[in-house]
Amino acid sequence: MHKTVTFFPKVGEIAHKGIVQISGTALIEEAIVLMEANNLSDVVYQLERGHGIFTVEDLIRHRRQGRSMATRLMDLETHLLPYVSEEENVLHLLSIFVEKKCRYLGVKNQDDLLDGIVSYTDVLASVDPIVMMEHKTLAEILKNGRVEMIAESTATEVVLDQLIYAEDAMLIESGGKLAGIVTTRDIVRMIRDGIDLTLPIRCHMTTPVYTINHRETIKSAIDYLKERKFKRAIVVDDEGNLNGVITQIELIGVTYGRWAELMKLHAHELGELVHVLESKNIKLQHESLTDALTGTGNRRMINQAIEAEIGRYYRHERQAFSILLLDIDFFKKINDNFGHPVGDEVLKLLCLKAKTLLRISDTLARWGGEEFVVLLPTADIDSATILAERMRAEIAKNSYNNHAITISIGAAEYRRGESQAMLLERLDRALYEAKKTGRNKVVVAQ
Ligand code: GH3
Ligand code: MG
Ligand code: MG
Repeated sequence: MHKTVTFFPKVGEIAHKGIVQISGTALIEEAIVLMEANNLSDVVYQLERGHGIFTVEDLIRHRRQGRSMATRLMDLETHLLPYVSEEENVLHLLSIFVEKKCRYLGVKNQDDLLDGIVSYTDVLASVDPIVMMEHKTLAEILKNGRVEMIAESTATEVVLDQLIYAEDAMLIESGGKLAGIVTTRDIVRMIRDGIDLTLPIRCHMTTPVYTINHRETIKSAIDYLKERKFKRAIVVDDEGNLNGVITQIELIGVTYGRWAELMKLHAHELGELVHVLESKNIKLQHESLTDALTGTGNRRMINQAIEAEIGRYYRHERQAFSILLLDIDFFKKINDNFGHPVGDEVLKLLCLKAKTLLRISDTLARWGGEEFVVLLPTADIDSATILAERMRAEIAKNSYNNHAITISIGAAEYRRGESQAMLLERLDRALYEAKKTGRNKVVVAQ
């Protein structure tokens, strides 16, 4: 248990230092001036009994109650700031927050002076695995176990015999110091060159050995390994003494493993973190499927939607569905004549207009450039064509500075046995046909 706990940062590491303090006799309006000037969302004030904290939330509540801004801070219903030592581990804080029913804690330094503030959100963020990776150093996660090294005078064949797993590496020492390494790559080279295996390993090892300082973080070690395509990091202290060897998988595993342990031990307190991470994830997912300019789905999104629709087709009695591929006619001219920003506006306008004709179950997505795809989950080719024609006519009503805005459309109904790629290719051919035969028209795919 204790081992788990020490993995997480100390309060001192995550606290906001350099807090601004004000006397308890100060008025709220003075506190506001101070907060404004220092860009703070809270301010700490001194009381005989300790410290109080005045936050933006308090301010909002105070205002809502219609109370005077000339109230002294010490006359407010004060929540005394509970203190913790900067040496405290963040995990213990989670229970303190729950116990004291507070959202802030004062952090005291070794001289027992108030030195920082830590919020519940800070603590939750600090146990996020990504943050942990950025925080934890290799020294903190490496057990101080001895790492086996082999003398450089050892015969090569003996070293090879000891390499049981190809993934392993052997560290070679000379006078107690790290002198070389033998890895999978070296073995391949030795065998290819048909070297004399009776010679000492010193003749065949790779040297010098690239090492990483034990004060580097997990995150920078992972980056270092990725960049150099190394399988393991050889960790040394400031004097160059070997501290340990750790692989990339272990580096990631140690973070997520400890995190999982933590989740089990503190499931209750961490419920909120899970929630935060989930919403972060949902937001990221949403962003990765959305086109930034038009706010519609992007190509990845529509690919997924079409794939899902094909799946549904076979599960649900082969209910017909269709797809349209739209492309603005002579769009380059719009850009050339009026500039890219106008082009962008036309793209947005197209989406708005198209959406007014679609049903809630239909999906519009930007395929790329000035091409859009519409998935019509319940439409056979006849209804798809009617809709496409309506869309074409609706867009053709628009112009910019006497420049007509029109679109060409390819339409296709899904055919049994067809892959998404095949379907899109048929659509592409239909669209090409529409372009070739005059534009501003709908062509049904063959
Ligand atoms: P066609 O009728 O044959 O489709 O003619 P076109 O001019 O539309 O031909 P093409 O597809 O080759 O041109 C598409 C143009 O769309 C080229 C590119 O500069 C422009 N474009 C692509 N993405 C954007 C964008 O995000 N904003 C703007 N303003 N223009 C874009
Ligand atoms: Mg195009
Ligand atoms: Mg075009």
